[in-house]
Amino acid sequence: MHNIWQQQLKQALSGRTSEKLRQHPDFSHAGDGLFKTVITDEVNTAIKESSQPHVLLNQFLPINRETNIHPDFNQDPVGDHNALAQQGIIHKYHGRVLLVASGSCAVNCRYCFRRHFPYQKQLASRRNWQAVVSYLHNHPEVHEVILSGGDPLTLTTQSLTELTDRLIDLPHIKTLRIHSRMVTVLPDRIDGEFLNWLDALPWRKVLVTHINHADELTHKAMGSLHRLKQHSITLLNQSVLLKNVNDDADTLINLSHKLFDEGVLPYYLHLFDRVQNAAHFEVSLSRAQRIYARMRSQLPGYLLPKLVKEEAGEHSKTPLI
Ligand code: SF4
Repeated sequence: MHNIWQQQLKQALSGRTSEKLRQHPDFSHAGDGLFKTVITDEVNTAIKESSQPHVLLNQFLPINRETNIHPDFNQDPVGDHNALAQQGIIHKYHGRVLLVASGSCAVNCRYCFRRHFPYQKQLASRRNWQAVVSYLHNHPEVHEVILSGGDPLTLTTQSLTELTDRLIDLPHIKTLRIHSRMVTVLPDRIDGEFLNWLDALPWRKVLVTHINHADELTHKAMGSLHRLKQHSITLLNQSVLLKNVNDDADTLINLSHKLFDEGVLPYYLHLFDRVQNAAHFEVSLSRAQRIYARMRSQLPGYLLPKLVKEEAGEHSKTPLI
């Protein structure tokens, strides 16, 4: 039997909750065909309640410009393919590995740098969890496992439990990090069963949310952050600097303050990754640096996310300041 969040996810994936977007005058069937439109009811609510609905809409609405092909953009802008250590394991940086734990998300963000990722072939799914454990066993220098995707919280808590049960005997694992957008786009995912799972884990726990604009923090989303905070999980946020979404300093300064109000520290502000079919989101480096300089002049250091770019083949993210 499905619980509430699973029913909501099912509705989003079936397209039922994207009806409004499909009626929008800028909606493009061609864009939708390139990367399916997926949005949740919670995001529909956030759009309705926002005084600047376009800042949310632009993140999820497929438009004709997605069909433009740019020679300087590609399908794997951050070099995931070359960093695949084995199926579903991306090992780029020292001491941590990323598991592509799920190929789906509750929303499809039009600017996603993994919008072309071959999830069918490259998933750390239940079928190859044993291979994941063997890989980690052979890499005692790895102390942090990152669950990513797609969105790893589209997996049921039962599946997450089965996965983490397999990792428990690896003494060098000290931290579990989860990258998820569910906290804001499908806040009912943070339910009692999930929190019990977190509580039972023996490691340090970090959840990195993905919030680009303060209007994504609906009443329910703030509730889910509050529940997580009560369970002693470190909460960080990463944003992507996106044209016509959050490309001005006041918007990002406001976001940092709002995140802090909810117990979340701003972690990264990513320069847009040059993924094919999403070039219209790009903000130039010089403009990004101007925006960032103003953020730096207005925010205390602990509320200033690091402005970075992920470059294929590099052993860490590149700071842009
Ligand atoms: S939630 Fe994350 S992985 Fe999923 S489409 Fe959005 S940016 Fe990509």
